[in-house]
Amino acid sequence: MCVPITVHEADSALRLAQRAKDLGADLVEFRLDEFFTGQAADESGDGGGGDTREVREIVRLISTSPLPCIATCRPVSEGGAYDGPEDARIALFERLGTAFGRLESGEQEHPPRYLDVEYATYARSANIRQKIHLAIEHPEQLRALQTSLILSTHDFAGRPRDLTRRLLAMRQTPAKVLKVAYLARSLRDNLELFDLLAQRDRPMIALAMGEFGLMSRILAPKFGGFLTFASIAPTETTAPGQPTIDDLLHLYRFRAIRPSTAVYGVVAYPVAHSLSPHIHNAAFEAMGIDAVYLPLPIPGGPADPGASSSGGTWYEPLKATLLDLVHYAPLHLAGLSVTIPHKENLVRLALEQGWDLDEVSRAIGAANTVKIERDAAGMPARIAVSNTDAPALVGAIRDTVGDLAGLDVAVYGAGGAGKAAAYGLARAGACVTVYNRDPSRAAALASSLAGLGLEVRAADAASFPASAHAIAINATPVGMNGGPNPDSSPFDPATLPVSACVAETVYAPVRTPLLRAAEKAGLRTIDGVSMFVRQAALQFTNWTGRPAPAALFERIVREAAG
Ligand code: NAP
Repeated sequence: MCVPITVHEADSALRLAQRAKDLGADLVEFRLDEFFTGQAADESGDGGGGDTREVREIVRLISTSPLPCIATCRPVSEGGAYDGPEDARIALFERLGTAFGRLESGEQEHPPRYLDVEYATYARSANIRQKIHLAIEHPEQLRALQTSLILSTHDFAGRPRDLTRRLLAMRQTPAKVLKVAYLARSLRDNLELFDLLAQRDRPMIALAMGEFGLMSRILAPKFGGFLTFASIAPTETTAPGQPTIDDLLHLYRFRAIRPSTAVYGVVAYPVAHSLSPHIHNAAFEAMGIDAVYLPLPIPGGPADPGASSSGGTWYEPLKATLLDLVHYAPLHLAGLSVTIPHKENLVRLALEQGWDLDEVSRAIGAANTVKIERDAAGMPARIAVSNTDAPALVGAIRDTVGDLAGLDVAVYGAGGAGKAAAYGLARAGACVTVYNRDPSRAAALASSLAGLGLEVRAADAASFPASAHAIAINATPVGMNGGPNPDSSPFDPATLPVSACVAETVYAPVRTPLLRAAEKAGLRTIDGVSMFVRQAALQFTNWTGRPAPAALFERIVREAAG
């Protein structure tokens, strides 16, 4: 793992390099392009002839680095900051590769372990190639400390159209390491990079940038990538989508990832704030399971004028991405959590593909779990789609209230969570009333459940409470951090009997305005963490066949949700 450090000044860069070492990095990359201006010695007042102050500082930085380093001075044309004269940049490379003198302090100078030069620069002229060859390790050169060439190519707009041609040309060079980095425009763009790693003829770095590229960075050891980059802090990244060392080592357990590691993940959009990677990765670690759990962002497609309100623009990207990931055998994708906005389209996809679909998902038209079993060749042999929200909610309420048969229950909300709640509670024998601000959605839910032989009443949210409910459940995002009404309660719990119990599906914050008001009114409460932990635990067991460490899940979620 390599930590890129943007050099503004040698001493602060050395402090950051020491910090990177302390945090567990193997290598640092000194990004010199913000520091090096390429100013000639006579212009900089250094008297001409010898090194400029800038060059002396760079040589000192590299010579005294606490970790082996890559020296990079990226020009603007490849996404860097260097816009000085090109001959000065090439002269810097020559100087660094042949740094064998003594520093002013008397210490021995030494060259960087790697020099990163862009393929476009290297290919530009025989003269440049000759100078770079002077600075790097090659068959005719004999010296104790050697600098290896990393030949790199970057595209910040997407996969380069001539990628294959570029790579073939890069393979004709004496570079020790080849590096390809491009902006991923979808999760699917990672897969080609994994193929490139599989076909490598020498050590290779193949990374996708941006929010869709995280997978390539975390899974580099699975596919034999030479290294991955990680930042000391979110503010210190040098490329979009770079994870922090802390996340890479502790959240994603980078050191434990190997070719056999199974991959799980949460499909959502947005996904960055999901707690699921925290709990499932911690469980894999605690139970010694060779697996990693990733955030898998899948956004909607371009607006389609004919799209229905049920999420037409979300379906095609979900379908295309999931089918590619599922059928890419080397990924060993074994299971998925699926959440907003894809739960309904997952059911559509399962029906279309003939995947197994459990009764709850069929009944409510929304699912949140995928399990993929593979044959000896790694291809999917059975894909099972299920819904753990309904059993999780019913289980969490049963834990507090006991048997639900005959109890009068209000479900407030008729979206995905409301449907799961109404179905699960009606199946458990409760007398359910679904309230919704758009009463037609509540009526539609009641009529679809009637088709399954489940009797559920529908009501306008304005009429809450229509009876003396024993339990009332919030299945709307009202009260959720970052939601439409974070400071509001969906209904007034003081209108319920004092013996009633109020349950939340919202879990961030843990104590929502509704729960606080219910406690004030002296009612029993069940927070949304109980449901979240249970639905995740059911997923974990579904995938692994083992009981989930629910107490660990609960501790992590409560700490994070606040
Ligand atoms: P959804 O499908 O979008 O449905 C949202 C529901 O909330 C709809 O019934 C909607 O009414 C209603 N609603 C939205 N804004 C409202 C407002 N300002 N006032 C009154 N009603 C409002 O969402 P979902 O998937 O069901 O999720 C609902 C909540 O459950 C979210 O906070 C989610 O995080 C939570 N959840 C938690 C878990 C867990 O494990 N704890 C699992 C699943 C979901 P209309 O139909 O009138 O628009």
